[in-house]
Amino acid sequence: MLGFAENIMTTRYSSPQAEAQYSWLSGILDTFYISDTQVEAHLQKTAKKGIVPSCHRGCHACCLKPTVPITEPELMVISWYVSEVLLGEIRAQVKIRLIEHRSRLECPFLVERSCSIYPIRPLICRQFLVKSKPCEVGEDVLETRPQDVMSLPRETVIRPVAMRLLDYYQLKSSTAKRKAFESGFIGKSAREMHLYDWTQIATTMDHFDNMVQFIIPSGTER
Ligand code: SF4
Ligand code: SF4
Repeated sequence: MLGFAENIMTTRYSSPQAEAQYSWLSGILDTFYISDTQVEAHLQKTAKKGIVPSCHRGCHACCLKPTVPITEPELMVISWYVSEVLLGEIRAQVKIRLIEHRSRLECPFLVERSCSIYPIRPLICRQFLVKSKPCEVGEDVLETRPQDVMSLPRETVIRPVAMRLLDYYQLKSSTAKRKAFESGFIGKSAREMHLYDWTQIATTMDHFDNMVQFIIPSGTER
């Protein structure tokens, strides 16, 4: 899932205008940033012991038959990004893939062997790392060589990421957040990506396209 250190963005993806407009957006962008920086710090430690991920740029076997559980805030940020940020040919291709997603096993956001939503890709795509050798096409590494799936430390990666993500759910206190984390609330509330009806996001994209056409007449360069 293209989550190798080489590809990890260590700057926070920001969109000040959208973050002012959508109250939930900063929290999820912070969550991704915390994940990237904490994973990177962990990989720096494992590299000293000679343990490095095999994931590399362009490696995408895991996106061809993805098992990607995503939470509601991740769904929200994907919907926002494809509707309001993606432009041009990539936008057109993603829209087609969303409409046709039920006829393919591949992730609908894989376009020309690249992740079209890379800056806001789901947490699992940032954190699923495989060592020893890259996955084969069709290989389920969790079945074939689970020992090669790199585990991430609970206290320095999983917990800080979860605590920021839990802000989305507006729990009343830090105790409630801790309880939610310990009870596995995030994992339980996530749904497999392929179970979502992505055609609804294609419809949202149409809505924005129509608005832009109304505001910016066709023929005007964007
Ligand atoms: S090694 Fe596996 S998990 Fe890593 S990017 Fe390649 S296909 Fe994905
Ligand atoms: S969102 Fe899809 S294309 Fe992007 S890294 Fe995850 S599985 Fe791959």
